[in-house]
Amino acid sequence: MRQDQVKADQCRSAGVFAGADRAGSGPVLFDAVLLDRDGTLVEDVPYNGDPEKVRPLPGVRAGLDRLRAAGLRLGVVSNQSGLARGLFTVGQMRAVHARVEALVGPFDSWRVCPHEEADGCSCRKPLPGLVYAAAADLGTVPGRCVVVGDIGRDVTAALAAGAVGVLVPTPVTRPEEVAAAPWVAADFSEAVEEILRRQHAVQPAVQAAAVRRGGTVLVVRADSAGDVLVTGPAIRAVAHGADRVVLLCGPRGRAAAELLPGVDEVIEHPLPWIDPDPGRVDPAQMQALIGRLAGVGADEAVIFTSFHQSPLPLALLLRMAGVPRVAGISDDYPGSLLDVRHRVPAGVPEPERALSLAAATGYGLAPTDQPTLRLRAGAVPPAPARLGAPGYVVLHPGSAASSRAIPPELAARIAGALVDAGYRVVVTGGPDEREVTAAVAAAGCVDLGGRTGLAELAGVVAGAAAVVVGNTGPAHLAAAFGVPVVSLFAPTVPFGQWGPYRVPTVRLGDAAAPCRDTRAATCPVPGHPCLAGVDPAEVVEALRVLGVPGEPVGPATTGVAVPAIGGSVPATGGSGR
Ligand SMILES: [Zn+2]
Repeated sequence: MRQDQVKADQCRSAGVFAGADRAGSGPVLFDAVLLDRDGTLVEDVPYNGDPEKVRPLPGVRAGLDRLRAAGLRLGVVSNQSGLARGLFTVGQMRAVHARVEALVGPFDSWRVCPHEEADGCSCRKPLPGLVYAAAADLGTVPGRCVVVGDIGRDVTAALAAGAVGVLVPTPVTRPEEVAAAPWVAADFSEAVEEILRRQHAVQPAVQAAAVRRGGTVLVVRADSAGDVLVTGPAIRAVAHGADRVVLLCGPRGRAAAELLPGVDEVIEHPLPWIDPDPGRVDPAQMQALIGRLAGVGADEAVIFTSFHQSPLPLALLLRMAGVPRVAGISDDYPGSLLDVRHRVPAGVPEPERALSLAAATGYGLAPTDQPTLRLRAGAVPPAPARLGAPGYVVLHPGSAASSRAIPPELAARIAGALVDAGYRVVVTGGPDEREVTAAVAAAGCVDLGGRTGLAELAGVVAGAAAVVVGNTGPAHLAAAFGVPVVSLFAPTVPFGQWGPYRVPTVRLGDAAAPCRDTRAATCPVPGHPCLAGVDPAEVVEALRVLGVPGEPVGPATTGVAVPAIGGSVPATGGSGR
């Protein structure tokens, strides 16, 4: 019986890869795909005004047709500075676009930046204006769009708007652009395949969703605050289908667990096979844990892990506690430890990775919910009055892992540059980071080092116009409030998996540094070069790209809306610059 169930669940999980067999009733990740034109859809012919020179790239027509068939709306977002330079006319450009549509099919929006760099517009990529404008044309928001492009500025524009960015490199794409991208596809077909796979993977399987269980579900995320926060959407999905959700977390994740919607009870226990600084495995402690797990009376357990952790040791304890159904992500053979053995390809963002396990187990988000990070209403206190009105910039230099922290000396220079640029800066940090925050804040900032628990820190972040931070918990707090992030991201773990999720972001730092993919907690390279080389002026520029606190970018003032060929989109818009 159990072996049959294991096989059935494995088959069903395999459906995640095929994108088949999904219920498709809950919220979707993506409404639309926005495409760069030259070098992505068609061969890059510099300043082309000649329809005869339009050549679609391999796989584009078939890939776009797959996206259309899946119900995704399509837009083009393209820099065409040849207009500003007088190298071709709007009429010639429209003829080129007509030819593109004749060859690869229609688009629902065309958004073009007609400016040169020197014009200082808000639409020329890497600025995010075209992405905002195209998303609005398509009746959605950037957070529900994928942007596909062939160079770094396409990806930067996508991330700065809070969209997902996919890089499909060509021979002229620079290696550092490839290294920095959150998601790289070998060709257009592969990008399309992965967009559709990710879209389907968060929808519960038809068969599993039909067996609505209710009851008590034990969910597990035994790691630090950031890990618990990124598992939030998956836990909400479980809560949507369960009567009661009990969360098992470690000591370092407890404060974050208290902030998550959908959690009815929290159990805290260290798990020595997860902790980075683990204690010995004590048989008496393990017996006590088994007793506590048995006491939950769970009908089912869902073990959430990150890509370098195994659910199997805990699955064994859950079996010993008598939990009848256990789900987890495991490439390692689980024997009879898992009823749902789910598998996820490398590179998927952690929140989606967890959501896909929930889906494979039969749990999807409520139709009114969204696959974004969110905190429990009422769990977050307001920011202290001394910070003044919302709109300050939070600078959080520290991290539990020093390899992912902003070097203190650099953080102090960033603070100075921000103050000089007219920002109100609030420096935050944990109790053991007071010395660093005091030094960093000396430039004329408010120092909150050691004065906030996680909930209070969330309240401070909620009032910020932007957060400047390494790869650590506060970046995920910012994502939960939609507060833009300047992410000084050490490449020790993949940016695509751990970068701020679905929130406007600019990534800084050397993504190709030797510490890349080492997962090191302490930087293995003398001088911490991946972050130490960031120029404070880059942070100020990143805030400008994010529209903080400059003029808000929006569809009404950016980009030229080119009428869809044969369509009815009015030629409004255009900044007139
Ligand atoms: Zn422009």
